[in-house]
Parts: sequence; C-alpha cells; structure tokens
Amino acid sequence: MSRSSAHLLAIDTIYHEPAVEDFARGREILERFPEARRIEVASHWKIPELHGNAGSVEDWVRIKRSTLVLGVKKGLTSRPNGRSAHFIAPSSSNGCAMACAYCYVPRRKGYANPITLFVNTEAIGRAITRHAAAQGPLPAPDQIDDRYWVYDIGENGDLSVDALACDSVR
Ligand code: SF4
Repeated sequence: MSRSSAHLLAIDTIYHEPAVEDFARGREILERFPEARRIEVASHWKIPELHGNAGSVEDWVRIKRSTLVLGVKKGLTSRPNGRSAHFIAPSSSNGCAMACAYCYVPRRKGYANPITLFVNTEAIGRAITRHAAAQGPLPAPDQIDDRYWVYDIGENGDLSVDALACDSVR
C-alpha cells in the first residue's frame, strides 16, 4: 500500500458476512489487513452500530476510513440508464471513505455508510458480460458511445478508494 493510500485508509475493523472467506477476493482483502478486528455479521445491510449513527460527522469520517464491510452481492441485474451510461451494472461496492456535503452518495446512502466491498466480483463480471451479449451490437452511435454499450460500474461507491483496498476494480 502506498503512503498516500495509507493516509486515507487505516482499516482496523472488518465486518464480514460468513461466506466471505469462501471467495478468493474475500480472502485477498482479509489478508491485506491482517491486524484488523474481524466481526462476523449476518448481513452487510444490517449492522446497527454502523448504520444510522447520525449524531456526529467527525465520527462518520473516522469510521469510514477505519472500517470495511465485506459481503456477497445478491442481485446481479443491470438496469437501463441512458444518460452517461447505457446501463447501471450490479455494483461491486457501495459507500466511500468520506462524507462530502456536495455528493449524492452520502445523501442517498447515509453519511455513515462505510466502504462495503462485494467479494463475488467474478460473478458480477460474468453477469455484465452476459447482459451485454444479450443486447447484441450497439444498433447505432449515440450520445453515450459510438461503438459500445457502456455500463456504469461505480454508481453506489467510490471505485478509486475501492482500488486501495482490493483488486476488484482492476
Ligand atoms: S463518493 Fe467521493 S465525493 Fe462522494 S462522499 Fe464519498 S468520497 Fe465524497
């Protein structure tokens, strides 16, 4: 990990669903932060001590830089977008390391939503490939691209910070 990434992320706690260690990506992330305290949770969506603690912005940012959540993405569907992308892909993550006032991510997800990484990256990639294949070729150039279907793979999180924690984005 580079010095700059070490400044942003100082992971000391990892909440994880039980199945995470069954996935290579899950093992990779756990091995990258060997000293982090591990807390098993039934679902990445229901961690009361993380979600909904609306009391302190300073705590939100500290928690978001020191806590990871690992889970398995269930719904692997893509949905139409039609603006900057043709489709929104199933997310490989949600949440981020900060709580910027101008950003729609914390407004939509709640400021205390820490980085959640989904470890079934291969299945997510296969689902996008299958979806694109089912579309056939892009029928005509459009405002989004002149040759290819474009998928937004980072609607719910911050891919640049995800890339500090694991190789999912790559
Ligand atoms: S996604 Fe980026 S801009 Fe938005 S709150 Fe997180 S760090 Fe800030």
